[in-house]
Amino acid sequence: MSVSFPASVPDALAILAERPEAVPVAGGTDLLVHWPARVAEYERDYVDLSGIAELKAIAFRNGELLLGALATYWDVMHAGRMREGFPLLVAAARQVGAVQIQARGTWGGNIANASPAADGVPVLMAYDAVVVLESATGGREEVPLDHFYTGYKEMRRRPDQLVVAIRIPWRAHDVAIFEKVGGRRVAPTVRRCPAIERLLENGTAVRGPDDLLPAIARDVAPIDDLRSTAEYRKRVLARLLYYDLRGVAPAFS
Ligand SMILES: Cc1cc2nc3c(=O)[nH]c(=O)nc-3n(C[C@H](O)[C@H](O)[C@H](O)COP(=O)(O)OP(=O)(O)OC[C@H]3O[C@@H](n4cnc5c(N)ncnc54)[C@H](O)[C@@H]3O)c2cc1C
Repeated sequence: MSVSFPASVPDALAILAERPEAVPVAGGTDLLVHWPARVAEYERDYVDLSGIAELKAIAFRNGELLLGALATYWDVMHAGRMREGFPLLVAAARQVGAVQIQARGTWGGNIANASPAADGVPVLMAYDAVVVLESATGGREEVPLDHFYTGYKEMRRRPDQLVVAIRIPWRAHDVAIFEKVGGRRVAPTVRRCPAIERLLENGTAVRGPDDLLPAIARDVAPIDDLRSTAEYRKRVLARLLYYDLRGVAPAFS
């Protein structure tokens, strides 16, 4: 095993250009959790990003929030103006693990880990976040988060690219709610729900959770597994949507 400790983004990108199989490490809270059982991973090259100060920046400018890839949940919970401008980021950060994970886990790591059960990714997607990638040879590339994932644990990030930042437009929202339910794997990637979005935009009458089930069936394909059943997952989503939106969406009664 080898571990490199670059002090700047260009240094880290140079390492990845030379050894694209090397694995970036941010907080290590996803990467290292299964490590003891994955002996093959011991032989890999790792690039520890934690010494790169520029990746930790959080800035509000030109009508957007620029979140450095190494910003942690704790950083977001305690950054000024976050609660007013991006309350869902704060709400999701509070729900991630316990304080130790909140202090180490990063937003870039949550995106690049590509788990369908990630808590940071759905709120970033709801805010129309854009993933900023960089590589030594290809320069900078920006990919809207809702086009970033191509399948389970698959994404539009080349091995020589780093997630360097996340851009989030600052807009007013009338309603913003984050809800987390355990056993909630409903799709292989985090994704938007266009059929439900259309139903809300069209003002379709909704008289109870069951009225949402057809749109839910078009948007997600839950699985039965040891944590829960597909039927439960669809029903819990219908109930969350219905009871969160009743009272704010005029067509919900
Ligand atoms: C006890 C525990 C509880 C947890 N609870 C939650 C929870 O409630 N909700 C939740 O969403 N997650 C949870 N997690 C998962 C994890 O903490 C988060 O996904 C976290 O955001 C990962 O960030 P990290 O910096 O630790 O990533 P790392 O583990 O360092 O990396 C994760 C993956 O992303 C890649 N990567 C990291 N940074 C970059 C980058 N800048 N560019 C390119 N690739 C990169 C790594 O190579 C690796 O593949 C939990 C983990 C543990 C151990």
